[in-house]
Amino acid sequence: METSCRICSGPVKGSVDLGVQPRGNAFPKPGELAGEFFYPLIVGMCDSCAMVQLMADIPQEVRYHDQYPYRASNSTVHSAHFAGVAHRLLRTELTGRDRFIVEIGCNDGVMLASIAEAGVRHLGVEPSQEVAELARSRGIEVLPRFFDEETAADIRAGHGPADVIFGANVIAHISHLDSVLKGAVTLLGPDGVFVFEEPYLGAVVEQTAFDLFYDEHSFVFSVSSIRAAARLFGLDLVDAEPLAIHGGSMRYTLAKRGARRPTPAVAELLAAERARGLDRHATLEELNRRAERVRDDLTSLLRSLRADGKRVAGYGAPAKITTVTNYCGIGADLIPYVCDSTPSKQNRVVAGSHIPVVPPSVFRQDRPDYAVLFAWNHAEEIMEKESDFTGRWIVYIPQVRVL
Ligand SMILES: [Zn+2]
Repeated sequence: METSCRICSGPVKGSVDLGVQPRGNAFPKPGELAGEFFYPLIVGMCDSCAMVQLMADIPQEVRYHDQYPYRASNSTVHSAHFAGVAHRLLRTELTGRDRFIVEIGCNDGVMLASIAEAGVRHLGVEPSQEVAELARSRGIEVLPRFFDEETAADIRAGHGPADVIFGANVIAHISHLDSVLKGAVTLLGPDGVFVFEEPYLGAVVEQTAFDLFYDEHSFVFSVSSIRAAARLFGLDLVDAEPLAIHGGSMRYTLAKRGARRPTPAVAELLAAERARGLDRHATLEELNRRAERVRDDLTSLLRSLRADGKRVAGYGAPAKITTVTNYCGIGADLIPYVCDSTPSKQNRVVAGSHIPVVPPSVFRQDRPDYAVLFAWNHAEEIMEKESDFTGRWIVYIPQVRVL
C-alpha cells in the first residue's frame, strides 16, 4: 500500500498494519452498533520528510462529534501538567503588555483556565461544543471552529497577532496539518511561537505503544519530521523538549524563519533520532513485528485465564483500548467489562470489540482476579487509587506481563 504524504506529497509506504478498526473514541451505545464506521488502520512513513502518518483518510467530521468524550481535566496528573505549562508561558512568552495566546483544541480549558485567571488575553479554538461549553463555564473565551488557514486569518483580523499559539495532544490529530502550519504563519506576530506537545515517535517505538495509533492520531511526530514540515511552510523548529506525559511526548517550539536561534537540544535530538533509526521504514517494520508478539501473548494469556476459570476485567477505556482489542480480537468473551471514571463513556461499549464500559464502583465490588490496564500511561495514578485491589494487574506495553 502506498499513498502520498499529507505534508510534502512524497511517497508513503505502509509499515504497521493494525487491521480493520472503528473510531477509537466512538464508544457506541449497545443499541447503536449497526452503523459502526470501520477503516484499515495502516501506518506508514514518508520517504522524503519521514513523517509517520495514517494511510487512510478519515473525514474529521466523522471523528469529532458533539459527544466527543475526552475530558483533559479528568486526570489530576494532566491538570497539574497543564497548570505548569500555563505558568511557564506566563513567565516566558506572555510577559509585557497586552499579550495574546491562542490555544488550538482547548478542550475543557484545562490549560487556559490559569491564563484567564492571570488576566491575559486568550482565545481557545475548540470545535467540540460540549467541551467548549465546559471551557466557557471557567471564564475562557472560546471560538467553536476547527483551526486552519481561514480561522487563523479571521482570528488575526479580529484580535491581532498572537504571541503564542499552543496545542496539546491535538496538532497530531489534524489531518490538514499543512493548513495548520500556514495558519500559524498567518497568526503569529514577528517574535511569536507555536508551541505544541504530542506523543513522540521515539516513545511509541521504544515502548511498542502501537495502541497510540487510532483514527484521531493522523500523525506521530518526531523532531526530524516536525523540522522538515516547519521548513516547508516558512517556520523553524527552535526548541524540542522531551516530556513524560502520555507515556512519552515531545514539546516542539516553532518560530517564523530566522526569528529565533534553535537551542542545542534540537541538534542533539536530531542526532539521537538518526542513531535510533526513527527516520527509517525498518524501524516501523520492527514495531509491527513487536505488536504482533504482544497480540499473540495477550490473547493466549487471556484464553488460558478463561480456561482456568479466572475472572478478568479491563481498567481504563482510553481510545487506545479500541485499537488493542480490535487488533487482538479481544471481545467481552475474554474481558467481560472495562471500568472507566468518565461518565460519558459509561453504559456504552468499546467500538468494534463491544466490551461494556462500567463505572469503577462495579470493578471495586466485583473484585476480579486480574485487571488489564488499558490506561497504561496513568499506571501509577491508577494503582495508587486502586490500592485495595487484591487481584493482579496485566500490562501489555512494552510486552505482556502479569504484575
Ligand atoms: Zn513527507
